[in-house]
Amino acid sequence: MAWHRMRYVLPGAVCLGMAGLAAAQAPIAYPSQASFPHENREAVARHLAEGRKIAGADLEADFNWRCLISPLDKKIVAGVQHDGLVPATKVFDNLYSIGQNAVSAWALDTSDGIIVIDALNNGDEARDILVPNMRALGLDPARIKYVLLTHGHGDHWGGAKYLQDTFGAKVATSETDWGMIESPNHGGGPFAHLVPPRRDMVLKDGDTVTLGKTSVKIYVTPGHTPGALSMIFPVFDHGKPHLAGLMGGTGGGQDSASAHKQITSLARWQQITRAAGVDVLITNHPVHMAATEKEALIRYGALNKSGAPNPFIYGVDKYQRYMGVMSACSRVQLARLGETGD
Ligand SMILES: [Zn+2]
Repeated sequence: MAWHRMRYVLPGAVCLGMAGLAAAQAPIAYPSQASFPHENREAVARHLAEGRKIAGADLEADFNWRCLISPLDKKIVAGVQHDGLVPATKVFDNLYSIGQNAVSAWALDTSDGIIVIDALNNGDEARDILVPNMRALGLDPARIKYVLLTHGHGDHWGGAKYLQDTFGAKVATSETDWGMIESPNHGGGPFAHLVPPRRDMVLKDGDTVTLGKTSVKIYVTPGHTPGALSMIFPVFDHGKPHLAGLMGGTGGGQDSASAHKQITSLARWQQITRAAGVDVLITNHPVHMAATEKEALIRYGALNKSGAPNPFIYGVDKYQRYMGVMSACSRVQLARLGETGD
């Protein structure tokens, strides 16, 4: 029987059947993406288009993450950015990835000791993840001289007191983010129970932290937090010098005021890194640049086989475009709040 004839022959039966089904079943209850009732749709579209254009083919995944997945789909974020062990990796001759899946920690080796950048969620992670990762790569944690904290959120400083107490490392961050760390709830959320490190060093915009022959240039880039730190430091790829830029808060700001600050900081960071010739991207969460996947390629030596460069070397232009994508996505965030984002 043809379908159109069946529809006309049995209308009553079809309707009864559907009504019975609806009464027996609860409506579907999947989680939905975030919605923005006050969004300025014209501005959202404009800044999405701009970000997607800047991203080109090679930064499409980063654009998708920062502009679309991270703000819209908490389930994906929780799944991808889960606490988990990943193998420690020597990324450059003098830079080692020693963090976990959800949040990064880095060891910058120098002729006179080690600078650790960020300290994971808590003392247990520092003891059971960060330190064993160092040892696995042949780095002696007793050589840690400084722990530089990119900002005052607990997932970056939670393990700092352990490193301070155990190895005598000096802990440093900006004045305002020391204030977050030392506040009664330590920046809030799941980190309220943490014991903060002692305030060894306060870093200001333009400061330089020098250990042995290595200098880390420090900038204060408000947005993600009021005093997020960004850093420029030298790395070597099989002896060849490059310049790494770690922007302390590529996760963006959490409200309108901080998103505006983030856009201003990103513009300044682009100027600073362009003038310095920064050509290596380093982030403080692996997911912000698929660092875990890049590190797997390095560990397997896969790139040596294809002749491809170290995947953390972006080149000056691509580094600038990455930060341009971050800026466009902060503008998208403002437009979702109802602003123009301009
Ligand atoms: Zn943060």
